[in-house]
Amino acid sequence: MDCLFCKIAAGEIPSNKIYEDEQVLAFYDIDPQAPVHFLVIPKAHIPSCDALEESEDPVVSHVFTVIARLAKQLGLTGGYRIVNNCGADGGQTVQHLHFHVLGGREMGWPPF
Ligand code: 5GP
Repeated sequence: MDCLFCKIAAGEIPSNKIYEDEQVLAFYDIDPQAPVHFLVIPKAHIPSCDALEESEDPVVSHVFTVIARLAKQLGLTGGYRIVNNCGADGGQTVQHLHFHVLGGREMGWPPF
């Protein structure tokens, strides 16, 4: 499958990894939008949030537990933002489910 994040998960394309287990991978975004900006992905190919099935609930739940743990490890004590861009209007550019974690500065709202 010609999927960038599947290739990163398989180690075929290098990434700056933060954490990995059987289910998920966390790595720094190549184009950071905050002092700390990393991505957490399920290793299995799921195209987007919109494509999720109930059988995938456990991996999504695991993603959030991993995010909380990594945020603590990386010193994001003042808080952080978790973003999922879903589909064209949502601004999704890589068609493999991923959650952005941004921190190290105060975030604005609303997004545009
Ligand atoms: P999206 O726009 O789909 O929500 O997010 C895709 C993210 O993947 C972007 O923030 C982009 O900078 C990041 N990205 C794209 N290509 C690569 C890559 O090859 N390596 C890494 N680490 N991040 C990437």
